[in-house]
Amino acid sequence: MAKSIQTVQGMRDILPMQTPLWQFLESTVHTILKQYGYAEIRMPIVESTPLFKRAIGEVTDIVEKEMFVLGKENSLALRPEGTAGCVRAGLEHGLLYNQVQRFWYQGAMFRHERPQKGRYRQFQQIGVETFGMKGADIDLELIVMTAKMWQQLGIQDLELQLNSLGTSAERSTYRTELVAYFQRHKAQLDEDSLRRLETNPLRILDSKNPALNEILNQAPALMDYLGEDSKQHFQFICDGLDQLNITYHINPRLVRGLDYYSLTVFEWVTTQLGAQGTVCAGGRYDGLVAQLGGKATPAVGFAMGVDRLIDLLELDPAAAKQQALDAYFIPLGDEASQQAIFIAEHLRKVIPEIKMQVHCGGGKIKAKMKKADASGAEYAFIMGEEELAQQQITVKSLRTQAPQQTLGYNELASLIKLSK
Ligand code: ATP
Ligand code: MG
Repeated sequence: MAKSIQTVQGMRDILPMQTPLWQFLESTVHTILKQYGYAEIRMPIVESTPLFKRAIGEVTDIVEKEMFVLGKENSLALRPEGTAGCVRAGLEHGLLYNQVQRFWYQGAMFRHERPQKGRYRQFQQIGVETFGMKGADIDLELIVMTAKMWQQLGIQDLELQLNSLGTSAERSTYRTELVAYFQRHKAQLDEDSLRRLETNPLRILDSKNPALNEILNQAPALMDYLGEDSKQHFQFICDGLDQLNITYHINPRLVRGLDYYSLTVFEWVTTQLGAQGTVCAGGRYDGLVAQLGGKATPAVGFAMGVDRLIDLLELDPAAAKQQALDAYFIPLGDEASQQAIFIAEHLRKVIPEIKMQVHCGGGKIKAKMKKADASGAEYAFIMGEEELAQQQITVKSLRTQAPQQTLGYNELASLIKLSK
């Protein structure tokens, strides 16, 4: 027998029994984005490698170790994130200069990391990028909008973590202090951190090595180095969240992995997924558009990791139930079987919102009832010769002890509407 070929390491199939939850998440999030007036943009999966080097920074995990590169002299890369491509597209099509924009996108991202639960080499992000707004009001809107998404998805227990990275001048003063501090405690740093001490010392704060906890918690906090404007920007967001009863936690170690952030940074974090706890991350990146060759343009955005959100939803059985079929339609006997597709079409007209699967392929009644049960449907719709003649359906609840009843098509419509 020929050897079978399997998925590439770190990549995975999303199987038909999993996709209903993905669709539920996607449609919920898309609806909210529409309600808030965000417009979708679709970028290619492949961009030129220098775009990511310039946008994300040479000394970042992504650029140093995680990029999938291809083509002549590795000049092309599979996108590891969406912000760089979105800014590139905005600039290329003249959508950013002197304009206010609210964009969103969804798609596969690629990072060559060590695969584990919640960390894949191909994963999905839904991202939002806004341009042309420098006030903290838009930062607040983004956070409020994400809170709304969790609420509509029925996801609880996410912690909102906030920090401010100040302006580049403020960061540079802080950087000097931070380097001095780490120099004094050099013996306690790990190999990665020692390397970053030379290249990108702020990133040491982002380390996930638990052995560094103590020294990182004692480190000077960027927040103490902010000027008046940066403080006010941050305070506006905190006050707004207080007013809307959205709780948050100020995390001075939150510096984010990428170079392009300034002022606001935030993450939504769960404790239920182990070390891969961040399900959504974002912040302000006022310097990026100019860095990529445009005119200085304020910008703020976020990206959510759809795979991790799905892992969270899967912990909640109620989320799966929302996706179940309403009915499994079982014809009994030759005449009914021949008519099944046509009657089902009629029922779909009478009950437009119904989710119904028709049994095809014959078989004994017992086997058909088993399939009905396994389909996850709420009801079996049974149609024998008698029902067919009377334009009725016998309805059996598959999930409760409710007595079986025979109903006309319109009564059936009321039953399904009631059970929604
Ligand atoms: P982490 O600290 O977990 O490595 P990150 O800072 O690299 O995350 P971002 O670049 O901010 O992640 O991407 C935004 C979101 O995308 C993350 O919060 C996470 O939910 C998701 N994400 C990032 N990398 C992966 C991956 N390899 N597999 C699945 N989801 C991912
Ligand atoms: Mg990462």
